[in-house]
Amino acid sequence: MTGQFFISLLNPGIGLLFAVAFFLLWLNHRRPYVAYAAGAYLSSSIAFLIMDVGPALPMELQRLPANLGFLTTGMLFAAAIIGRYNLPIPWRPMAGVIAVSLSIFLWFLIGEPTITGRIYAISVGTGVIAFLIVRALYPIEKPYLIDKLLFGVALLSAANLTLRPLVILSLGGGFDNYVGFQQSVYWTTVEFSQAMVSVVAALSLMVAVAIDLIADLREQADTDQLSGLLNRRGFEAEAGPALRRCLVENQPVALLIADIDHFKRINDRFGHAAGDAIIAAFGAHALRTGPVDMIAGRIGGEEFAILVPGAGIDTARQLAEAIRTGMAGACKGLVPENQPATISVGLAVGAPGAGLSGLMRDADQALYAAKRTGRNRVRAFAPTPVSLTVNGA
Ligand code: GH3
Ligand code: MG
Ligand code: MG
Repeated sequence: MTGQFFISLLNPGIGLLFAVAFFLLWLNHRRPYVAYAAGAYLSSSIAFLIMDVGPALPMELQRLPANLGFLTTGMLFAAAIIGRYNLPIPWRPMAGVIAVSLSIFLWFLIGEPTITGRIYAISVGTGVIAFLIVRALYPIEKPYLIDKLLFGVALLSAANLTLRPLVILSLGGGFDNYVGFQQSVYWTTVEFSQAMVSVVAALSLMVAVAIDLIADLREQADTDQLSGLLNRRGFEAEAGPALRRCLVENQPVALLIADIDHFKRINDRFGHAAGDAIIAAFGAHALRTGPVDMIAGRIGGEEFAILVPGAGIDTARQLAEAIRTGMAGACKGLVPENQPATISVGLAVGAPGAGLSGLMRDADQALYAAKRTGRNRVRAFAPTPVSLTVNGA
């Protein structure tokens, strides 16, 4: 057992360990990019294993699958990073790079055998794939440290893969045979630098998975599954700060509270499932109808709140009317047309010093007025005039 033997176990071991780790992460977070990461590390593990302690194949035959494995690793790794950003994965360009590198590799294996030529073919090929990651990520915003880190890893890999053979081979010259190659400073450097880049890349990707998982869970905790809107918790968490921002910036802001009319009767007549479908239809209808920056949530069974930054009383009334009159169309097919689902809406506009709970109370009072005066209508909150009684008058 030589030291070389243990070094040669480094990359297959690291690869296998991370392949298993990413597979376990994928079981909990089934996004394709996590599966690509698992695939990349598995492929890297196999490639290094074939290369270093591989089966007793003739040397030349061993090289082709091993190097195909390295190129596949690069491709899957690129798919993992690019896929995390939901960007189109450049499968075709990557397949093209692999085809070209392997052709050059085969030429230097069979046509004009030289180890140095083969090293350039594979290392530069994987380097170009790493540059494809850099190119895909370069134009997008990288708001968080993890985004900068992943970009850095891609840049580092691209530089490492393209420059490494040029620098080291120009220092040490070429290789005459495989024994020399396997024991060379070049191959030892490859194994060490690859192990380092592998670990840094895996840890960065794992942090990314953890961050994405937490963001997903947070979103789930704040979302109402049925309506697709925020739930009460999510609504209050987002609407509170948005309201404060509007008031600080002297921007108008309005709050709508909508409640489905006679919902108990709808459930009784058409069944609970029909009631659920109407709640879902309302959610989709509100999202389609309102402005993108509104904050809409289901705050009770069949009660919804919508905060509209920038909306004064007129805009808020128009939006409320649009949502109210669009209900029949939104619920088409869910209830008989002669018994359409309707909503009542109360609205209130934010005044300096108003808090979310006060504004919701005002809108609720207006909703109550809409219900009392016959339902299927919009009412705005009107402060009760203070009666001034002058003594003796
Ligand atoms: P109003 O016009 O005064 O608002 O009358 P309403 O019947 O709509 O109001 P009420 O508050 O008396 O009843 C609300 C009903 O909403 C009672 C409850 O069974 C039903 N409900 C609450 N959550 C859900 C839900 O998630 N799905 C369904 N299908 N029904 C729900
Ligand atoms: Mg109701
Ligand atoms: Mg209600």
